[in-house]
Amino acid sequence: MDTKQLAELLYPSVSVPLDEWEEIFPQRSLPDGAAVTRLGPSPTGFIHLGNLYSAFVDERLAHLSEGVMILRIEDTDQKRKVEGSEELIIRSLSHYGIHFDEGVTLEGEKGSYGPYRQSERKNIYHAAGKALVERGWAYPSFMEEEEIEELRKKQEERKVLPGIHGEWATERALTLEEIKEKLREGKEWVLRLKSRGEGKETFFIEDGIRGKVRVHPNILDTVLIKADGLPTYHFAHVVDDHFMRITHIVRGEEWLSTLPIHLEVHEAFGWDSPVFCHTSHLLKMEDGNKRKLSKRKDPELSLDFYHQEGYFPEAIREYLMILLNSDYEEWRRDHPQTPLEDFAFRIDHMSGSGALFDMEKLHDVSKDVLLNISEEEILSFLLEWADEYAPLDAVEMHEREKELLHLLAIGRDAKKPRKDLIYAKQIYEFIRYYLERGFEVQDPLPERVGKEEAAGILEDFLQTYNYHDDNQEWFAKIRTIAEARGFALRMGDFKRNPEQYKGTVSDVATVVRLGVTGLQSSPDLWSIMHIMGEERATKRLRQFLDTLRK
Ligand code: GLU
Repeated sequence: MDTKQLAELLYPSVSVPLDEWEEIFPQRSLPDGAAVTRLGPSPTGFIHLGNLYSAFVDERLAHLSEGVMILRIEDTDQKRKVEGSEELIIRSLSHYGIHFDEGVTLEGEKGSYGPYRQSERKNIYHAAGKALVERGWAYPSFMEEEEIEELRKKQEERKVLPGIHGEWATERALTLEEIKEKLREGKEWVLRLKSRGEGKETFFIEDGIRGKVRVHPNILDTVLIKADGLPTYHFAHVVDDHFMRITHIVRGEEWLSTLPIHLEVHEAFGWDSPVFCHTSHLLKMEDGNKRKLSKRKDPELSLDFYHQEGYFPEAIREYLMILLNSDYEEWRRDHPQTPLEDFAFRIDHMSGSGALFDMEKLHDVSKDVLLNISEEEILSFLLEWADEYAPLDAVEMHEREKELLHLLAIGRDAKKPRKDLIYAKQIYEFIRYYLERGFEVQDPLPERVGKEEAAGILEDFLQTYNYHDDNQEWFAKIRTIAEARGFALRMGDFKRNPEQYKGTVSDVATVVRLGVTGLQSSPDLWSIMHIMGEERATKRLRQFLDTLRK
C-alpha cells in the first residue's frame, strides 16, 4: 500500500505538516530541571476535590522548579460541554491559590504554544494523524456501530479480548481502491492506530509517583480521530503534551489502564514520553472500610461544598499538602510559621495507594491554620461568606464589625490558644448568639439549678455588676454570690460532700452565661460582656430574669 497516497487521500487539506509544527512549537528555554505541567480539565461544569488535588501537584512541580503550568481545556467531547465551565474552573482554582502561567485565562489565551482549547487544534491533530498514516501506523476504519457490536459478541463467545486487534482488525487489509470507493460513497470513518503490540513482552516504566509500573503492551487498534474529525483523549493529549513541551503528566490513576495505548502512540510518533505521574484516588472511611469518594454519595467531593461551608483556602491547601507528602506534617511542626510554598514538595514522596480524606482531620488542620491568620482576615472572609450565605444576619454583622473582631480574638493569644474557629459557617454559628437578631436562650438551665434559684442568682449578679470590673473582680463577685447561696467554690468540696451544696460556682457562672449568650458554654464570659457593652449585656440578663419569673 502506498501510505503516502493514502495519507493524502484522507487528509488533503493539511497544509502544515507535522515537521513544521515541531518548529512552530520549539523546545522551551527554561532552567535545568524546570517542569512544564498542565491541567487538562474537561468543561463539564463540575469541578471537584480530585481536580484541585492534581492541580496542586502540577502547580507545586512547576513553580518549585521555575517551570510553567498550563491550563488546557479538553473539550473534544462536545456533547458534555457546559457553558461557563472554563470560568468556574479558573475561578475555583484561583480561590485556592492556583494560578496558571499559560493557556486559557479569563482575559483570553496566554502563551505561544496554543491554541489551548483542544477543539481549536484540529489542524495539528490532522497533521499528526496524517503523519501516522504515512508511516504505516494508522489506517481508516469504516466499521459501523452494529458491526462493532457484532464483533464484540463473537469475541465474548470465544472469550477473547474485545475490540479491534489482531485477526479482528480486518480493515487493515483494505486496499487503496477499496478505501477510495468507500470515501466516494461518503461512508463515515475514523482513524485507528495500527498497533504493533501483539506478541511483545511486558515492560516497565518509571512513574513519577509510583516508581516502577508494569505495562502490558497495547494490542488494540484504538480510535485516534473520530468521525467528526475531533481526536480522542488518547490521541489528543499525546499530541498536545508533546507540542506544548510538557515534562510531567499529572493525572488520576484511572488512566493507568489505558497507559499502554498512550505509550504506543508516543512510540508511533517516535517521541519520548513525558514523566507520567498517576495520582491515587481520594478515599473515605465508611463503616471501617476505605472507599473512593463518589460524586453521587459525597457532597464533600465537590468544590462547591467548601465554598458553601466557607472553608478557608489556606486550610484546604494545608490539608492537601499533608495528603500529598507524608513528611509535610513533620516539616510543619518544625516550621510553624513558614509559608507552605517553602516546603520541598516531591512527587516521589506521594503515596501510590490512595489518600484518605478525613473531614475531622481537615477540621483539626483548619483550627491550627486559622491561629496563624489575623482576626481581621478571618472577619473579612466571614463577612464575605455571610453576605452570600446568611444575608439577613450579615447586615448586623457588618454593623458590629469592630465588636466581632474582638469577639473572634478571645482566647487566641493565650499560651495554649483556644481553637474555636474552623470554617465560616461554623464560626458564624459559633458567634451568632452575639447578634441581637434572632437571639434567644437556647440551652437549658444547669441540672442542679431550678428556675427560682437561677432568678435569684441573676438578681444578685445584676445588683453587684459593674462594667468596669476587671476579669478577676468580676469573678470574685460570682464567687461571693455562689458562696452566699450555698454553692461550693471548689469542685473537690462538692464531690466529697454533694449533699452540703446546691451545686458549684460553675453552675452559678453558667446561669449568667446563659442569660448573656443563651448557651451553657462559651469563651471567656467576662470578655464577651465587655465587648457587648453594659447596656446590651444587662438587658439580656433582665430579659432572662423575666422569663424565669413568668
Ligand atoms: N481531560 C482529562 C480528564 O478530565 C484530563 C486527563 C489528563 O490530565 O491527562 O480527566
